[in-house]
Amino acid sequence: MQEFGSQLSGLPCPEPDCTGLLLSQRPLDYRAPDWSCQQCGQPQSPATVVELQRQQGRHLAGIDTSDPDHVIAFLAERRVPDTGIVAVQLKAGLNLFLVMVDGYKLHELSDEHLKVKEKMCRDLLSVMDKLKIGNTRLKGLNVFDLHQTLSEKMRRIKLEEVWRPIIILGWKLL
Ligand SMILES: [Zn+2]
Repeated sequence: MQEFGSQLSGLPCPEPDCTGLLLSQRPLDYRAPDWSCQQCGQPQSPATVVELQRQQGRHLAGIDTSDPDHVIAFLAERRVPDTGIVAVQLKAGLNLFLVMVDGYKLHELSDEHLKVKEKMCRDLLSVMDKLKIGNTRLKGLNVFDLHQTLSEKMRRIKLEEVWRPIIILGWKLL
């Protein structure tokens, strides 16, 4: 099942040294969903798939979502597929955290967190495009969020352009 190519239900392949994604070839037939890896081609039993799904749930339960750096580090480890439902849920939560929470409002974000926010916005919009959800309120909010993020990025670049010659001049005068 690829959900129009979004691969939301994809699971990490359990074969050693394989970084592929397990996907169901017959998602509508619940008696024989037929999961196999899109990279190594190895089929997996329903019991293995259920265990992998539980493992994804345990990963999600173990994450401290009140610490954005913990979520960012977890996503970078790639223990959950980047396009899977767990990662998408974490990205949506992180995207909201990096603008809604005191101390993490847009103008307060570090340059690194601003970069992460831009990537989260783009990743989420890409999932929405693949799911063909159309011009909904949710998509509109995400487009606006990306616009605000890019405006903040431009504001910082312009500030740096204004200050850089002044700082250099300051150094010359010292
Ligand atoms: Zn594989």
